[in-house]
Amino acid sequence: MDANLLIIIVPIGLMIAFVFINGRSAKKGRMKCTRCEGTGEINEKWPDVDAPGGWHKLDGICPKCKGKGKV
Ligand SMILES: [Zn+2]
Repeated sequence: MDANLLIIIVPIGLMIAFVFINGRSAKKGRMKCTRCEGTGEINEKWPDVDAPGGWHKLDGICPKCKGKGKV
């Protein structure tokens, strides 16, 4: 590979990596939890054939965001 080409490619690659990492960290912790709608608490009950008793039941702290309301 030509050394001049490498000088161009390396900074571009680093820039892409930087934008990618920045985008990921900015997204994390800012999205409202879709499971508890941002409250951090859930009260779920719906028919579930796989669950014991045939019902899915969950009450209290949201397991998706662990009560923070954001993911
Ligand atoms: Zn949640």
